[in-house]
Amino acid sequence: MILILFGAPGCGKGTQALRLVEELGLVQLSSGEMLRSAIAAGSELGLRAKEIMDRGDLMSDEIIVGMVSERLDSPDCANGVILDGFPRTVAQARALDDMLHARGAAIDHVIEIKVDENALFARIETRAAESSARRSDDNADTLRKRLAVYHENTAPLLPYYETQGLLRSVDGMAPVEDVASHVAEIVG
Ligand code: ADP
Repeated sequence: MILILFGAPGCGKGTQALRLVEELGLVQLSSGEMLRSAIAAGSELGLRAKEIMDRGDLMSDEIIVGMVSERLDSPDCANGVILDGFPRTVAQARALDDMLHARGAAIDHVIEIKVDENALFARIETRAAESSARRSDDNADTLRKRLAVYHENTAPLLPYYETQGLLRSVDGMAPVEDVASHVAEIVG
């Protein structure tokens, strides 16, 4: 099973991904978490990532695609994965299609978690208060930039997946439990 969780920053992708990991035994591949591990490890990639992430910009497609592709080859991904935060550009989506095709796999569902953007600021502020040490990109200024980047680079993926008949949407403003059951229904 290959699932893509899709939505604006702060929409709740990570929360829903964790539920699916527990319920379906899938592996969560979060490109953001992979980058945060690189930052924590102090690697060269991490140093570059921190600067870009703190600005609210995107890492280069090439780096992200290489990172995800390598991770997909790990044995723990054989049963399926939840992609969280990737793809984030049409170029990444095309690279993902090629990657999966080469492995004889295909995307099962793309689930868009729809949220009201005003609510995102409140969520991010709460999250920032809880995780300021861990996520220096959780603040209102960076969120504004991340939302602009989302509209410009990531939202075009919606029609990309819609024409392929893969796109399903859930109401991300509903309580976490309701979002989770809607997602579970789609995943079947
Ligand atoms: P969000 O809370 O917005 O879902 P993520 O943890 O997925 O945040 O990503 C945080 C940051 O990491 C992004 O703002 C971006 O700088 C970088 N990043 C994560 N995934 C990608 C990607 N697929 N392509 C480019 N940059 C990425």
